Amino acid sequence: MKFVVLTIFPEMFTPFWEHGIIRRAVESGKISGCAVNIRDFAADKHKSTDDTPYGGGCGMVMKPEPLAAAIRNAKANVPDPRVVYLTPQGRTFTQSVAQELAQLPELMFVCGRYEGIDERICQNFVDDEISIGDAVLTGGELPAMVIIDAVTRLIPGVLGGEDSAEKDSFSNGLLEHAHYTRPNVFEGEEVPEVLLSGHHANIETWRLETSLIRTFLKRPDLLKNRQLSKKEVDILKNWRSEIEYIIHAQTLSGTAALSGD
Ligand code: SAM
Repeated sequence: MKFVVLTIFPEMFTPFWEHGIIRRAVESGKISGCAVNIRDFAADKHKSTDDTPYGGGCGMVMKPEPLAAAIRNAKANVPDPRVVYLTPQGRTFTQSVAQELAQLPELMFVCGRYEGIDERICQNFVDDEISIGDAVLTGGELPAMVIIDAVTRLIPGVLGGEDSAEKDSFSNGLLEHAHYTRPNVFEGEEVPEVLLSGHHANIETWRLETSLIRTFLKRPDLLKNRQLSKKEVDILKNWRSEIEYIIHAQTLSGTAALSGD
């Protein structure tokens, strides 16, 4: 996968390419990354990349000419990229968007600053608009890094077997199960016994249960739109009968909560 980022702050990307799994992916040739300075394509002697907005108002707008020239020039090396403009107005970035982008051979990111970029670039040079969430940042550089990071770890061979992306949250429509490591007692809190049992089938069932519980508690919206397996339905039915048992016991003991007082 080739990533090209168009930005007025290319130096922000130097440490990004040089750490952790991204660095390993670059070194093994699974990805290549390059940040292009939009300012290099500004034609005037001040190398301006922004100007005041037509119609007045506050802030500056990124000029179209340097952006167009930077995109055209970058296409000499990556001839058929999907050109993505990072913008809070784009479709929301999710794991399924990351999976979609990971299938592509080349991605080019346009990072806005100030009030954003001239609309004619969006209309004539951009294939896709992506937001990393409903909050407004000062520039597209961090969103580009977020997306490159999430996409890179989905590229086959980038993660070692010990770090599989298939079991991560969202990959199967659920949040991932809880994790524990040594020591088995930490400040009086013990690791769940089943995880020390060595019984793989029981461990898998426990993991699926905690995965379902935390999805239900933290992100019930994910469960509503997901087709459940028979095993998952059985686990939910089991909880239902346990919850019904608890409620029934409360009814019998005449608790105030059930009488509405
Ligand atoms: N005036 C724009 C608006 O209200 O839609 C916001 C501009 S923002 C201050 C400057 C740049 O940061 C944008 O052009 C975009 O590239 C980037 N940016 C800000 N928030 C973002 C987000 N949530 N997702 C992706 N990019 C974002």
